[in-house]
Amino acid sequence: KPSQGTMNTPIHIDTPLEEIGKVYNRLKDRFHSGITTSLDYRIYNLKQLGYLLHDNEKRIELALKLDLDKGRQDMALSDLMATYNEIELAIRSTKKWMKDETQYKDALLAYKFMRPSVKKQPRGLALIISPWNFPWQCSLCPLVGAIAAGCPAIIKPSELAPTSSALLAELLPRYLDPEGYAVVLGGVEQSTKLLEYQWGHILFTGSNRVGKLVAAAGAKTLSPTTLELGGKSPVIVSSCADVRIAAARMFSIKQFSCGQMCVAPDYVLCAKDRVDDFVEACKDVLKTQYPSSPNPNAMIYSPSTSAMQNEAAFQRQVNILDKAEAEGKLVYRGEEDRQRRRMGFSVVKLNEDGKDESGPLVEEELFGPVLPVIPIRDIDAAIQYINSRPHPLALYVCSSKRSVFDKVVNETTSGSITWNDFVARTQPFGGVGDSGWGSYHGYDGFRTFTHFKTVIKVPLIFEPIMSLRYPPMSRLKENL
Ligand code: NAD
Repeated sequence: KPSQGTMNTPIHIDTPLEEIGKVYNRLKDRFHSGITTSLDYRIYNLKQLGYLLHDNEKRIELALKLDLDKGRQDMALSDLMATYNEIELAIRSTKKWMKDETQYKDALLAYKFMRPSVKKQPRGLALIISPWNFPWQCSLCPLVGAIAAGCPAIIKPSELAPTSSALLAELLPRYLDPEGYAVVLGGVEQSTKLLEYQWGHILFTGSNRVGKLVAAAGAKTLSPTTLELGGKSPVIVSSCADVRIAAARMFSIKQFSCGQMCVAPDYVLCAKDRVDDFVEACKDVLKTQYPSSPNPNAMIYSPSTSAMQNEAAFQRQVNILDKAEAEGKLVYRGEEDRQRRRMGFSVVKLNEDGKDESGPLVEEELFGPVLPVIPIRDIDAAIQYINSRPHPLALYVCSSKRSVFDKVVNETTSGSITWNDFVARTQPFGGVGDSGWGSYHGYDGFRTFTHFKTVIKVPLIFEPIMSLRYPPMSRLKENL
């Protein structure tokens, strides 16, 4: 086990393009050696990944602070704990996941005697491309799936979280098999170069725009691709909802990464007869649970909340709010601290059924602390609104009646759907349509990087039966 790292902050230096082919070939050789497929190798590397996090928690937290000014809660829960849980589950379960499956019980009668089974084989060298917002979780949780499946992997983390990415590049070869796992640092150029190669599997997490480029590149080399994308995740607040609970639970999740999270509640479709109640509940929750300065717990000072990614991301939210204010639609404006890129929550009330609305509030993933509320006629209108837009990654329904939730479950399509809460990251986790292809986490991570190979065994003693299909065909054979 390597010793505790120093607190120095590594410098992010892009991997030279000419190095990428060498890294690819080295890891491919490792795969062809067969060593990555043994259970011992998988468990060793999973455990080492756990030690990597455990030994270097302080450095990881410092890197997240330097890169993104992440809040304590985000670091502890989203980047560290989520990854620990993923590793722990894989260590406990990989042996079980790897086991061959016998299929003969379900096989057609004609195939039963061949005793078909499924052998789970690693798909090959994996490519993991990750975003800036949860640089550790979104790089390492896919890696857990790849390791559990017996695949070597190259991670291309985000250049927009440079210290975290450089730290990962420093630590990964110190803890895991350096011939089996590697980090390529850089941005578009490095990603593009990597995507020229053929991969056992590509798992991309990021924006829809780049997802399309990754899918097109994967198609060129026939590399199977999982896309974990974003989009607008709606909240339905029905007329029978407990609006106070809905508001409190919603903001407690939207506060993660200051709303810069793929499954953050993006906008609310609220039954029009409850809109005033809901907006009042939001204001009440914001005033009591997310106070303004001079309260020392004010959201813009709180060490548990995160900053906006950069000045441009901060300014985008400000522009959205200024426009809403000019149009008389802003009902609550949170505090702003431009220097520290900190923002409180704001609530905007839009036109009924979203009529005549355009712009980022209804067309773009908001990725920030702004919450638009759209008064909606009834549950059918809410369902129609959602179904006329790209399929969301997550959908949240707040209602006291289970039947309302069941109706939305049956009549909409989304990556996940949750009743009366805003948690979406369980297994399998993934989008549908515009919010992504495929899924991972837990067993699904293993499955994503695994080829399920059908194995059919026909013993020679079955020759009398097999010979029935050899020509010439007798009448008896034809009638069989
Ligand atoms: P992004 O798409 O800009 O970047 C993601 C990765 O792609 C980075 O590593 C980047 O270097 C690389 N990249 C950028 N341009 C590229 C190109 N032209 N060709 C190849 N690679 C390229 O995304 P981001 O801004 O880092 O992350 C935010 C987005 O990610 C949001 O839309 C969010 O919803 C989504 N996200 C989704 C999940 C999920 O699990 N579904 C999780 C986190 C974030």
